[in-house]
Amino acid sequence: MVKMFGLLAVAIIVVVALASCGAFSKKEQPQPTKTILTFLGAPGSGKGTVAEQCVKNFGYATMSTGNLLREAVARGDELGKKADAFMKAGSLVPDELVMALVEEWLTRNMPTITTLVLDGYPRTAAQATLFIDLLKSKFPEVTLRVVNIAISDDAIVARLADRLVCSNKPCQSVYSRKLLKDPTKLVCEKCGSPLIRREDDNETVVRNRLKVYADNIDPMIKVYKDSAVRFDEVNVEGKTVEEVFAEFKKLV
Ligand code: AMP
Repeated sequence: MVKMFGLLAVAIIVVVALASCGAFSKKEQPQPTKTILTFLGAPGSGKGTVAEQCVKNFGYATMSTGNLLREAVARGDELGKKADAFMKAGSLVPDELVMALVEEWLTRNMPTITTLVLDGYPRTAAQATLFIDLLKSKFPEVTLRVVNIAISDDAIVARLADRLVCSNKPCQSVYSRKLLKDPTKLVCEKCGSPLIRREDDNETVVRNRLKVYADNIDPMIKVYKDSAVRFDEVNVEGKTVEEVFAEFKKLV
């Protein structure tokens, strides 16, 4: 009898020990091995430039929903046709269209990416919530981090008045007129195509884009804070690209 109790006690101890080290848990959670960095920042704050520096200096991948949408508009597919009018007015394209585009892009590209920088997505609290849920359900190996690019509206309006973009849709490189190597030739320094002003960089549309941004930023930050997503800030007011990137490097 005493021996039986002894055996039973040993069996209980073994079961408790195995359970506490997770031996009976149904499914191992994958460890996060990839990072998605998303930049928050008003249009013209320089998110795209920091993203470009990340690609150049760290070999990160980058994705801009604005670029994907402009490509869809240029292709003239169903999604592009629906997005076109919203973009021309400087309003946000509906969440479900952007979500479809993002999910399709991530599914195709994430298997070969370790660190991805998102430029211009998520842009609303609803997009941030949908995105966090998408990562949890389909990309559990990804850790999300947010970097806020802080700058005043006046500095933005001045910057956008000087912004030029490459007219070649697969390139879409961005320049400041003042920083062109040869300001007499408005051509892309990467592919040689003509540089143009973006249709939505005129002052009326820029003011609307800034308003849309301001209306959405606080609720979106709340979503990140409530979901315990790491949140950092870089102040870019009056700084050169090199100075901004040096600050950003300290964070990553
Ligand atoms: P961007 O190139 O990031 O300045 O975006 C240009 C335009 O594309 C915006 O003014 C919106 O009309 C649209 N857009 C880009 N990203 C998003 C997004 N995440 N959600 C909704 N609309 C977007």
